[in-house]
Amino acid sequence: MIVNVTAISKIDWDSEGKRNYHIPMTYDGEWARVRIPLCVICGIKPGKTLTVIGGTHGDEYEGPVAAKKLIENLDFSNMSGRVIIIPVLNVPAFKAGTRVSSLDGMNMNRAFPGDAKGTITSRIARFITDEVLSRSTIVVDIHSAGETMETIRCTSFHEIQDPSMYRQSVETASAFGTPFTMIYTSDMGSGLLTEEAEKMGIVTIGTELGYGASTDLDGVRWAYDGLNNVMKLHKMLPGEVISLLPPTHDRTILVKNTDIDTWMTAPTSGISEPLVPIGAYVRKGDPVTCIHDFEQITKPGYIIKADRDGYVLQRRFRASTRQGDVVMVIAEEVN
Ligand SMILES: [Zn+2]
Repeated sequence: MIVNVTAISKIDWDSEGKRNYHIPMTYDGEWARVRIPLCVICGIKPGKTLTVIGGTHGDEYEGPVAAKKLIENLDFSNMSGRVIIIPVLNVPAFKAGTRVSSLDGMNMNRAFPGDAKGTITSRIARFITDEVLSRSTIVVDIHSAGETMETIRCTSFHEIQDPSMYRQSVETASAFGTPFTMIYTSDMGSGLLTEEAEKMGIVTIGTELGYGASTDLDGVRWAYDGLNNVMKLHKMLPGEVISLLPPTHDRTILVKNTDIDTWMTAPTSGISEPLVPIGAYVRKGDPVTCIHDFEQITKPGYIIKADRDGYVLQRRFRASTRQGDVVMVIAEEVN
């Protein structure tokens, strides 16, 4: 069934039940409208509002798939509170299979809080800020690493000073059972959806659940089962939180990736060869990446060594590497 277009002012945010909408966003300078899928599910008892967003970047697929399944399977008659699900936020980017919008070239995750008079990406962001984030108590923005980097499977949130908010963020992030939770920095960019949600006092969780523009089996499972766990943790669904940790892990490892000056970049262009697996614990001085110059076939590769002890959080996935590309991120565990 193709869902009808509904004007923003006609969305029913509050009545018991499950409703699927297509929210129209008019193209810049064309007689056409992008349709943003949005589902509102209101339970039979009052409670928190969980917002689930996928497809903020158009080449990341675990979020859209898990969110679509959640729309299909969530039973409002079993639920307290409200769930707002947007399986694909940047529809033009998603249709093009690209990180940024094919219509205005903008990165949705740098467009917040948005601008009602801006181009289409800014206007979608503004709609989310005004109509969706303003109604939310918990936001989960499901990302993956896209096409250039491989990542640990993790949940994430920004550095938080408020102790109560920090505790709620750790608890909510841990409910996903990913091997890692990553605390990250605002220095890597501004205008993030999560940054805006955090400013509004919302418990806000991001994720990195796959890479390489694929649909990762475990990534989808962590997203889908993790969201069900989050709902149980916050008393929106009955039942206990179940452990989703892989058998190789006895806990979610909390790591801090807050200093972008520690990101290791390629000193020279070439073909990068990873020497350690993602998630590995390395020690300072360990060889971690080799850059090969195929114009000088007899020359040994340039070895990059770890500059600290820690876990390999991200590494370059695409082999072709330019001088200055990030080849690896190593970070320490925090308590
Ligand atoms: Zn992303």
